[in-house]
Amino acid sequence: MSDRRPLATIPYGTFSERAHARAAADCQVIKAQLELTYRCNLHCRHCYTDPYNDSAWFPRELTLAEIYRLLGEMREIGIVWLNLTGGDIFMRPDFFDIYEAAAGHGFLLQLYTNGTLFTRAIVERLQTRPPFSIDISCHSVDESQFDWFTQVPGSYRAFRRGVELLQAGGLPFSLKTKLMNWNAGEIEQLRQFTEAAGQPFGYTTSLSPRLNGDCSSLHYRIDPNTVRRLPANQETAPDSGECDRHTPLLPPSHDRLFRCGCGTDTIHINAWGELSTCTFQYETRVSLREHSLSDGIEQVFAATRGLAYQGESACRTCAVHTFCDKQPTQARWESGHPESPIPYACDIAVARASRAVPITPIHPLRAGSCP
Ligand code: SF4
Ligand code: SF4
Repeated sequence: MSDRRPLATIPYGTFSERAHARAAADCQVIKAQLELTYRCNLHCRHCYTDPYNDSAWFPRELTLAEIYRLLGEMREIGIVWLNLTGGDIFMRPDFFDIYEAAAGHGFLLQLYTNGTLFTRAIVERLQTRPPFSIDISCHSVDESQFDWFTQVPGSYRAFRRGVELLQAGGLPFSLKTKLMNWNAGEIEQLRQFTEAAGQPFGYTTSLSPRLNGDCSSLHYRIDPNTVRRLPANQETAPDSGECDRHTPLLPPSHDRLFRCGCGTDTIHINAWGELSTCTFQYETRVSLREHSLSDGIEQVFAATRGLAYQGESACRTCAVHTFCDKQPTQARWESGHPESPIPYACDIAVARASRAVPITPIHPLRAGSCP
């Protein structure tokens, strides 16, 4: 008689809760985002990586050998969730070498893609070893608007075909929507499309300057007054998913520059092999071409946690900071200094706070304390 017994299983939510609790107790990094490339077949008008979607920059991107090394180091330090992103991940000809190596290490793989490059062959290959999740950007359900935004004719049809292939293939995917000034009026159609695909609808609203500091992407930001009128949902969670908010209107209890989860359990590695704590954290970076992953984490986390406000800034005493998306690097690019407020972020924070609390919040830039 065989003495083989089935492995015990637990619900995913329980597993995730335990993994996060253990990581917090042990100060362990368990989540990584790896940008495989800045190459992309689209040129979305809000895209922060698009300046580097140019052949002049491609030789600087991580090689397959370097990525193999990083995957091995991620396994050694105990990474559980690995997010592969771009640009578009399928623009790398060696994508499946990377994917299969990562799957072989046992990571829970989260793929970010624009969805336009799926083919039957790609879906069948993913089916042999399915990822944990596939997130696809859904900008619009209007073909001409979608193609205008991506600046690539035919991209909407390719997106729809990709979604159909994933549905037919039974792969786990979800649609992500970023509401902007040009597509906010489509919210009901976007909701219907997402729900027809069998998924709950959610949206985010934050946009970032481009990685070269160009702020023209911010032109597509949603108006703060529109945010006030949007139906409440996960919009109040920042794109990075790191920050904690929904607390009463109180000023910060500390002077740390990073008030989010930066420097705790998550790392970000850009397409050039530079390590930091999240996608838009460019205040402290370490090259993993020159340092091991564990040394890099030690340096970057210590530096990030050590950064504190030095000058006078409205952010230091801001009562709506828990509703705010401000990221120091974004403040440097947009307002000239990482400690400076971002006026748009202030407007959005006040709009969110006014919906969440029963009193009218005071705008931090009109409260008598100068930025
Ligand atoms: S699909 Fe993503 S990476 Fe490509 S241009 Fe659009 S936002 Fe940028
Ligand atoms: S950017 Fe504005 S809302 Fe955000 S913390 Fe600074 S002052 Fe407060």
